[in-house]
Amino acid sequence: MAKRTILLIEDEESISEPLSAALERDGFSATVASTAEQGIELFHKAEPELVLLDLMLPDGDGKDVLRAIRTGSRCPVIILTARGEEMDRVVGLELGADDYVTKPFSGAELLARVRAVLRRAAAPAPAPAQESQMKLGDIAMDLDTRQVTRAGRTVELTLKEFDLLRMLMEEAGRVLRREEIIDEVWDPNWWGPTKTLDVHISSLRKKLGDDPAAPRYIHTLRGVGFRFASVAELGQ
Ligand code: CA
Repeated sequence: MAKRTILLIEDEESISEPLSAALERDGFSATVASTAEQGIELFHKAEPELVLLDLMLPDGDGKDVLRAIRTGSRCPVIILTARGEEMDRVVGLELGADDYVTKPFSGAELLARVRAVLRRAAAPAPAPAQESQMKLGDIAMDLDTRQVTRAGRTVELTLKEFDLLRMLMEEAGRVLRREEIIDEVWDPNWWGPTKTLDVHISSLRKKLGDDPAAPRYIHTLRGVGFRFASVAELGQ
């Protein structure tokens, strides 16, 4: 079987050298680009399974590289940011990065993220629920009958509201990026207003009796996305 290629776009050799050695030791084939331009070129040439992307490159901004990758590909991207670059990290996630790691990081930490992101990318999305029943807090969902109840009372949802709630509940505890939700619940080629998502979230909250100012279930991460409360938060 061919080795899985990982493209590392990073100009600092003190990072790229040990990192590519660690990747190779772990059974990957590592390709290193030290500029933004070379990164985009190698992305097309090497067809990597995953990209590790530094945001501060000598000839440009890693976010532009990410934009270029995302124009035609869903290839998983993990961004490497320095401490104090929170804004870059948020923008990176908005642009479609799958995860981020803050420098300095250990090889083991990064490899764990790489494996997790590759696993997620390989899994059919969303992971099919084993059970046809899901229950979080006092909200219960039956996937077969598409029935939702709150504290035992039926909640009438539209098709999209149901799909949206299902995705949020299946990924409870994890932040779902706006783009990710739109791809899944609407369409990967959705060009309509992204406000549609907010309208559906707001309607869903109303029907579930969830107060947006002090949400129990659906939490907003402004500019990033939404997160359904985890089992632990709901005290189950
Ligand atoms: Ca750099």
